[in-house]
Formats: sequence, structure tokens, C-alpha cells
Amino acid sequence: MDALHWTRFNITEIATEALIKFMKLVLIEIGGNNFRDFSDLIYLTKKTLRLKDQFHSLVPCPKCYKLYQKQEVTNFQQNGIPAIMTCRHIEFPNSSLRNSRSCNTPLSRKISVSANQIVIHPNLIFPFFGIWQQIATMYHCPGFESHLRYWANRSQSINLLTDIYDSDV
Ligand SMILES: [Zn+2]
Repeated sequence: MDALHWTRFNITEIATEALIKFMKLVLIEIGGNNFRDFSDLIYLTKKTLRLKDQFHSLVPCPKCYKLYQKQEVTNFQQNGIPAIMTCRHIEFPNSSLRNSRSCNTPLSRKISVSANQIVIHPNLIFPFFGIWQQIATMYHCPGFESHLRYWANRSQSINLLTDIYDSDV
């Protein structure tokens, strides 16, 4: 199954919700009625457990991988009508030798959710975890701060160079 099927059918969310429903059944089987109120919906579970999705979503071009803001792609319109945005990337834009043309690859597709409603859905999603969250996650790992100084505090052999800092240069 390719990435298009994953995003089109939202399989990860459906699979996650099925897993939550299964866990509720297991908890009721083990713990009895204490877990009857345990949510079997992904939205309510996230809310109850205070799980916040900290990913940012960007839309990459399937051909040249230029990144676009997701809202720019999903809200794209032509003449007031939702339309499929195409990639604007131009390779070598300053070159006078080449005939510069934009990539022009479609970034999304139209999906009809009802008889008179069409939704623009990106062809690919690039989930992006912010640098502050990444650093915070690293600092929560045990021993991370001591590992930052590992290169300076490690034992050294006199005649053996194992690191760029071991030489005189
Ligand atoms: Zn492109």
C-alpha cells in the first residue's frame, strides 16, 4: 500500500481507533466496570490523556520535493472555486542558457465528500516536528546532558587517535 492510500483512507487513525476499542475491551475484561467510561474514540482519548499533536504538516511536491504550507494547498482556489494547486518550483531560475519552466506537478486531488461538497486533499504529507520539541525530547532522555560533554571527558590513549580532537591540529 503506498503513501497515497495511507493518506486517502486515513488508515493510521482508523487503525489507532480500532486499537483503542480493543484496549477498552481488554481493560473491561481485566478491570471490570471501572473501565466502562474509558473512551473508544481517538478524539476523546487524546483529550482525556491530554495528548497534543505537536506535528506541523507540510505538503511536498511528489516530483521535486519543494515544500508548501498545508493550508496554502488545501485552501487553493481559482475563480473562487477550490482547485488543485501545482508546484511553482523553477530549477535554475537565474540561468539564461536554459529554458526555465516551473515543475507544474499537481500537489493535491479533489475528493467529493457529498453530492455538492468537494475537499482538496494533499497527495503527500510531510509531518514535521518543531526544533524546540525535538530538543526538549532529547533533554528528557536520561544522561543526555552528560553525553554532550562525553567527547571531552572520555579516556584517551597516548598513541591512538580516535577523534578529531585527539591530534595537535
Ligand atoms: Zn515540484
